[in-house]
Amino acid sequence: MAKKNIFKSPWTISIGTAIFSLFLTIIYDSVKQKPILSTIGAILKWIWNLIINILTFNIRVWWLLLGIALLILVLYLVDKFKKEETFKPDFYSYREGRFKRWKWTWGWKWSQSKGAWVIENLEAHCPNCDTPLIDNSSMYGYYFDCPRCNFTARDGQCEAPHKIERIILDNIDRQRKNNSTLM
Ligand SMILES: [Zn+2]
Repeated sequence: MAKKNIFKSPWTISIGTAIFSLFLTIIYDSVKQKPILSTIGAILKWIWNLIINILTFNIRVWWLLLGIALLILVLYLVDKFKKEETFKPDFYSYREGRFKRWKWTWGWKWSQSKGAWVIENLEAHCPNCDTPLIDNSSMYGYYFDCPRCNFTARDGQCEAPHKIERIILDNIDRQRKNNSTLM
């Protein structure tokens, strides 16, 4: 009874099936002249290739997105640069003038906080040798000094930079008004 039953047990059947399929694989492999290890190796290789392919695909998508982002950035910067170039005002080349006694030079800078063009590097030039004067003015008074020819000017002999700045801006205003009346 016991000997007959052993072949009907589910354990015997499942183990038997597993061994049978293993034998089938070995037979299949031996027919194909391939050892089992190479079959497992091939499966692992296939999985590995699949992972690499997925990663590579993702990297390509990443590069594509990065490329698009860079292109947008470059276009934005070019556009911004162009706008700044075209928005340079008429007075941008107005950088030199003689007021009262001295010649003054300056530059223009766009102030983001003021939302306007402001004067920068306003410098008085020596009336004798045209060298930019050193401004040694303090809270006690104005004092300008030429580093080349030892020209000096104090208080009443000096031109106050804040007044010069006001005159420059006023000159531009007047120029604008003249142009608009002409038009
Ligand atoms: Zn000088």
